[in-house]
Amino acid sequence: MTNIRPKESVKNIAPYKGGEAKVAGVRDVIKLSSNENPYGPSENATEAWRKAGFELHRYPPSDHKTLTRALAAQVGLEEEGIICGNGSDEIISLLCQAYVGEGDEVIHTEHGFAMYRISTLAAGGTPIEVRERERLTDVEAILEACNERTKLVFIANPNNPTGTMIGGNEISRLAAGLPDQCLLVLDGAYADYVEHFDGGAGLVESRDNVVMTRTFSKLYGLGGLRVGWGYAPKPVIDTLMKIRPPFNLSRVQLETAEAALRDQDHITKCRSENARLRAWLAEALAEHGVLSDTSCANFILARFASEAEANACDAELRKEGLIVRKVGGYNLPNCLRITIGDEGSCRRVAHVIGLFKEGDASDPTVKADVSA
Ligand SMILES: *Cc1c(COP(=O)(O)O)cnc(C)c1O
Repeated sequence: MTNIRPKESVKNIAPYKGGEAKVAGVRDVIKLSSNENPYGPSENATEAWRKAGFELHRYPPSDHKTLTRALAAQVGLEEEGIICGNGSDEIISLLCQAYVGEGDEVIHTEHGFAMYRISTLAAGGTPIEVRERERLTDVEAILEACNERTKLVFIANPNNPTGTMIGGNEISRLAAGLPDQCLLVLDGAYADYVEHFDGGAGLVESRDNVVMTRTFSKLYGLGGLRVGWGYAPKPVIDTLMKIRPPFNLSRVQLETAEAALRDQDHITKCRSENARLRAWLAEALAEHGVLSDTSCANFILARFASEAEANACDAELRKEGLIVRKVGGYNLPNCLRITIGDEGSCRRVAHVIGLFKEGDASDPTVKADVSA
């Protein structure tokens, strides 16, 4: 018998489950379960990725200078405030490692991103879930949940999986009301989808208790590359740099992300296509009685009458090769999160859900209709 045991908090972690990509017996599937950009990255990024493969025997630079400089220039930020990570997941994890230990509490919202809880437990801390109001972050409830043990508050704005967003005044009020020892982390994974929105960068600069995280995984179409970044006050950056693995990003990652950043035409195009199709899909589903909150991201959260109906609709979609995300694990069992794909995908989703709601889902002419 061995006595080897993980720490208590780690035992409580339910491993993260990514979006599914396959349906048994269906060949042509459309994956709408991971909020990926259906158009992929800029061609410049793919080109940079090919070229970066040449010097694989060399270690990459560990200062990430070229990428941080490009980010600072493109987004209009202070270079010294930027840290790059292996996805923004790594920034979330570094924040927990650096600021959270046994006895410390970390707040996330009722329908908040699963990695906040996982990274908190991995660091030995205690996750505290705070209720939302009608799938909207409730600043008052968060402030009430704070105490002398609260070290971090995570908010995704826009939030995943709800797609909702709260305004700058609310965020400022939250930052101003937190206890002294607490950092506010604004997860901006979907901030790129909101026009003229800085994701909270201004607040990072004007205060000393706010951190913002961003990613290349969503609008930049590089979920497979694994590059994210954080923007934080200098003392926080200095702290995170002490524990950041020096070679956490390969040269391939650094150079590909930089090339993607430089092609803003592609980004603008993807953002506006997403907005157009998101509005179209939300309305098409609403016409069949499937409502959703106004989404600010690249997915909508479709609400059904019951968990049973959501599951039945999911099964119907899967039969047609359309993979969306069940969100029972996020306390939303009667909902399905549907990533905004390209136009054809959106039309197919609307068509299948329409037939499902009309009680006519097994109609054999479905496929013929759609391809026509
Ligand atoms: C997708 C997502 C991320 C991004 O994770 P990466 O590690 O950068 O791929 C972060 N936060 C939320 C809320 C997300 O949905």
